[in-house]
Amino acid sequence: MQKLGLYLHIPFCVRKCHYCDFYSAPSGKGARAAYVRALCRHLAVAAGEVQDFSVDTVYFGGGTPTLLTGAELHELLDAVRTHYAMEPDAEITVECNPVTAAEGLMKELRTAGFNRLSIGLQSVHDSELQLLGRPHDYAAFLETYKAARRAGFANVSVDLMFGIPGQTVQSFSHTVDTLLALSPEHISAYGLRIEEGTPFYRMQPTLTLPDEDAEAEMAELVAQRLTAAGYEHYEISNYARPGKRSRHNMRYWLGADYLGFGPGAHSYLHGTRFETAPDRGAYLAAVEQGAFTTLRQNASVIAGKEKMDEYVMLRMRLFEGLDLQDFTSRFGITFREEYGDVTPLIKGGFLTCTNGRLAFTEGGMRVSNAILSEWLDFGK
Ligand code: SF4
Repeated sequence: MQKLGLYLHIPFCVRKCHYCDFYSAPSGKGARAAYVRALCRHLAVAAGEVQDFSVDTVYFGGGTPTLLTGAELHELLDAVRTHYAMEPDAEITVECNPVTAAEGLMKELRTAGFNRLSIGLQSVHDSELQLLGRPHDYAAFLETYKAARRAGFANVSVDLMFGIPGQTVQSFSHTVDTLLALSPEHISAYGLRIEEGTPFYRMQPTLTLPDEDAEAEMAELVAQRLTAAGYEHYEISNYARPGKRSRHNMRYWLGADYLGFGPGAHSYLHGTRFETAPDRGAYLAAVEQGAFTTLRQNASVIAGKEKMDEYVMLRMRLFEGLDLQDFTSRFGITFREEYGDVTPLIKGGFLTCTNGRLAFTEGGMRVSNAILSEWLDFGK
């Protein structure tokens, strides 16, 4: 049976963080209950199309999924189990924000069958959290983390951020060391990007951002500190204890199939990408009217040159890189013929080519955007 991932978008947040451009908004209890009913209905209808698949990853993301009650999250996961063939060892992740995750909820999540938790920490410094507009402080994170462990979560991921206004290399170093002492199974470390339409975009002239050198030092620091502590740096922004990579996110990078549910969710099925408009009202109305086909927008079949470029872009995010023989078998052309001679980049220490796999080095990964845009441009 082919394998499938499911992504359920929960578009609610306590309030909007200053840097966030995800589709989410505050909401009342009634709106959340109506949304859960709509998702369950959508899950039931969409299952007909993927009867040949078994589900091996489920990811509840947001927004803040843990703004739903334990009973609502349980109901959603039951709907998944009722309508889809699930692998017995499926990875089932729920994202949570510290202030929304009480002890009781952690136990309910484990009882429901969630086996992986992803917590948004960002920083251990309350002043930095406040600047980001996060609704929690470090003490709330610690309480949530410990409650998750007590409830039996043996696979916990924590998100960190660098490049925060006012952050220094020293303060980031303290964040990394403090988190390492807790020893989560997985850590994601992202550089802050200021996106259009966010409060930070408007506040930009007043923000004191770390300069480029400091940000590069932070990226290097987190990579060195985490790999020295035994984490595998498996993707540009992701680190895992052996065997604890995010299986769900791996499917995005490997170009595997997944179906997304909810406003703003993306899908990739049978070589076609599509998305649902980021509009909760329109989503609820479409489900209510049974107009499920309208939920698939901007559908595009990924083929030819686009597929090749996408393959290179996604595989090269991974430290294991891409298999040159696999590239040739898929596309009927060698990597060198399409993208040119990479020997100077290997000699310059940016790439390695070992056992037929082309991959970025640590240093190369930090300038990977520039290298990839060269390749993907001159290939066009
Ligand atoms: S909690 Fe996450 S999804 Fe919600 S506003 Fe903050 S960053 Fe965005």
